[in-house]
Amino acid sequence: MKIHEYQAKEILRQYGVAIPRGEPCFSVEEAVAAAQRLGGPLWVVKAQIHAGGRGKGGGVRLARSLEEVRAHASSILGMQLVTHQTGPQGQKVRRLLIEEGADIRKELYVGMVVDRNTQRVCLMASSEGGMDIEEVAAHTPEKIHKVHVDPERGLTDAEADNIAVHIGVPAASLPQARAVLQGLYRAFWDKDASLAEINPLIVSGDGRVIALDAKMNFDTNALFRHPEIVALRDLDEEDPVEVEASRHGLSYIQLDGNIGCLVNGAGLAMATMDTIKLFGGEPANFLDVGGGATTEKVTEAFKLMLRNPKLRAILVNIFGGIMRCDVIAEGVIAASRAVKLTVPLVVRMKGTNEDLGKRMLAESGLPIISADTMAEAAQKVVAAARG
Ligand code: ADP
Ligand code: MG
Repeated sequence: MKIHEYQAKEILRQYGVAIPRGEPCFSVEEAVAAAQRLGGPLWVVKAQIHAGGRGKGGGVRLARSLEEVRAHASSILGMQLVTHQTGPQGQKVRRLLIEEGADIRKELYVGMVVDRNTQRVCLMASSEGGMDIEEVAAHTPEKIHKVHVDPERGLTDAEADNIAVHIGVPAASLPQARAVLQGLYRAFWDKDASLAEINPLIVSGDGRVIALDAKMNFDTNALFRHPEIVALRDLDEEDPVEVEASRHGLSYIQLDGNIGCLVNGAGLAMATMDTIKLFGGEPANFLDVGGGATTEKVTEAFKLMLRNPKLRAILVNIFGGIMRCDVIAEGVIAASRAVKLTVPLVVRMKGTNEDLGKRMLAESGLPIISADTMAEAAQKVVAAARG
């Protein structure tokens, strides 16, 4: 789960990370009033969307007067902001962060992810912070320093100081850098983050170490123990189909292809998509209906897939283990009738009560194409999608 910059900054502030004073705003009037309250000669008007690269896309602008704050807020609010992370269609800006302008001496980068190889949180840091960190990672990876943090000890003073020295934090600012790095680590740990990033972390003209940007993603599997994080969810930033899916307990990810997939089990769902691609097709979605799929769930799953205007065919691939094939057959039949299926449907089922399930499908009178193996199912659905 993703949150906005201003929300991530508020979390980091609670962990002792210095951030600029700022206020989230939902209208131009609020933006001007916020700037007035903040005072000072320089403000930054920042689009709040769940994607990075806003600066380059025109979503982060400096203002030197309240009139400029008004002008920037008017042009950014409501704009369709396109960045390298939003895709060409961009993302509509509905919230702003109005922040005091910082006096930047140096822009650094610090980030944290879970490293699956070492099973530790990996802290990455670079002296080359700012808007081109992707370039640094791609072309001069030696400029990115890493520490794999021991979960027993946490990020030690020595590790934090060592990293800070490597990325060029001046000696007088080391205690502040240590507070930022350790605060970032504790926030990451406590909140079950999957990613946390401060880019840029700056050293200001007077030697302060401040987070000018902040990004945090959270492990959805751990959200049950963080209601305060769930409360930060912004559904406007999420794919409406995926939001609807999560309401029905379905794991659904929209993709670019035209073959809908309804599968039980994430592993089988991945394998199904691979097999479709192997035979020259493109999956329209990832969908795992889970182990306890009911007729209602299967019906909802069909409805979700059918919302996609690109959809040309559907492949249902079920392994009947705990879930019986006859139950799935019942769900597929009921769902096909309920949603008025407009595209060809290929069904493959294996396992418990397979014969019964197949017979039910055959006797349903629905134009269902059945298949026995994964390969056969994939080939049939790819052919059906081509029409
Ligand atoms: P993004 O990473 O989405 O482009 P950032 O928040 O990093 O957005 O902002 C882009 C750039 O704008 C930063 O690298 C920094 O140079 C500048 N900037 C951001 N916030 C401030 C601020 N409060 N004061 C001065 N400059 C800022
Ligand atoms: Mg940034």
